[in-house]
Amino acid sequence: MTGSEVALGYVSTRSDGSVGPLGFGDVLLAGLAPDGGLYCPTAIPNLPEVGPDTTYVDAAVAILEPFTVGTFDAAALEVMATEAYRSFRHPEVCPVLDLGGGHHLLDLTKGPTLAFKDVALQMVGRMLEAELDRRGRRVTIVGATSGDTGSAAIESLAGKAGVEVLILHPHQRVSEIQRRQMTTVTAGNIHNVAIRGTFDDCQDLVKASFADARLRSDVGLAAVNSINWARVLCQIVYYVTSARRVRPDGGPVSFSVPSGNFGNVLSGWYAKRMGLAVDRLVVASNRNDVLTRFFETGRLETRQVEPSLSPSMDIQISSNFERVLWEASGRDGGAVAALLAALRERGSVEVPA
Ligand SMILES: *Cc1c(COP(=O)(O)O)cnc(C)c1O
Repeated sequence: MTGSEVALGYVSTRSDGSVGPLGFGDVLLAGLAPDGGLYCPTAIPNLPEVGPDTTYVDAAVAILEPFTVGTFDAAALEVMATEAYRSFRHPEVCPVLDLGGGHHLLDLTKGPTLAFKDVALQMVGRMLEAELDRRGRRVTIVGATSGDTGSAAIESLAGKAGVEVLILHPHQRVSEIQRRQMTTVTAGNIHNVAIRGTFDDCQDLVKASFADARLRSDVGLAAVNSINWARVLCQIVYYVTSARRVRPDGGPVSFSVPSGNFGNVLSGWYAKRMGLAVDRLVVASNRNDVLTRFFETGRLETRQVEPSLSPSMDIQISSNFERVLWEASGRDGGAVAALLAALRERGSVEVPA
C-alpha cells in the first residue's frame, strides 16, 4: 500500500499542527514524539465484526488492521499474531473465568513471563523486527524496570534481528523470579545491568541517555515502554474478546483495571470509542492514587511515590493519561502542552471540566 492511500495517521498530543500525521511504522519506532508528546490516531475506526467464537488471532487482525494501514496488511498481521500468541498457555490466549454473581476475571497471565505486558509485547517485538527489516535499520532498546516490563520486553525481543536490548533494574530490588527471567536469557542481543539504587535511579539513567542527542542517534536509541502506541493498540483486542465472551448478546460490560501508567485502561477506553458496549471503566489504584484524586477533584497533583507490594502501580505521573487529556480538550495540542508544563512546574494543575 502506498502513502497516498493512508486514511489514518498519528499526531502528537502536544502537536501545534506544523507536523503532518505519521504512519504506524514511524510511530512504532519512535515511541515518544520529538515534542515530548504521545502519538494518537487521527481517526478512531469502527469496531470490526468479532463474535463469541472468533479466535483471538482473527480478532487481533481485524482490530489492528485499520490502525496499521500503510505498514502492515492483514496477511502480515496474521503471521505475526499467530506466532505471538502460540507461546500462550491457553487456547483462548486471554481466557475469562466466571467468578459467579456477574463477576468475571480476565486472565492476562498466560504469556511466557506471566505479566499482562506479554499480551502486547509478544506482538510488538515481532512488529518491530519486521519494520526494522523493511527499513534496513537497527535500534537499541533501552529500558528501566522494577520487574514486569523488563522480563516481558526481554522475552519478546530475545534473538530478534536488528535489535539490541539493554535493561536496567535496581540491584536486589526485583523479585527473584523476575531477576532470573531477565538475567538467564542467553540470546546475544540481551544485556542486563543491575544498578545499585532504586527504580528511579534506573529511570534517570535511561532518561539521561535519551537526552544525549549524539548517543541517541549513534546507537539508534528506542523504547518499548507503555507510552508506545503499538502497545496500547494490541491491548484493545482483549477488551473486545472478553466482552464478547461475557455478553454474546452484545450487552454492556464494565472493566476494573489495576492502573499505573494508564496504558491498560486506556486501551479499554479506545475499545469503547470504537463502539464496544462498555458501561464503566474503573481505574483502580493503590496508595499511589494520583488518578483517583484527579477523578474525585478535577485536580492533577503529583506526590512522592510510596513503595507498595504492587510496584507496577507505584507511579505518580500516569503518562498515558495525556492521551485522554488530548481527546478531552478537543485534540488541542497547545492546551495539553501548557497543562503538562504547569503540572511539571507547580506539581499540581486544575483541569477544566
Ligand atoms: C504494568 C502493570 C500494571 C500497570 O499497568 P498500566 O498499563 O501501566 O496502567 C499493573 N499491574 C501489573 C501487575 C503490571 O505489570
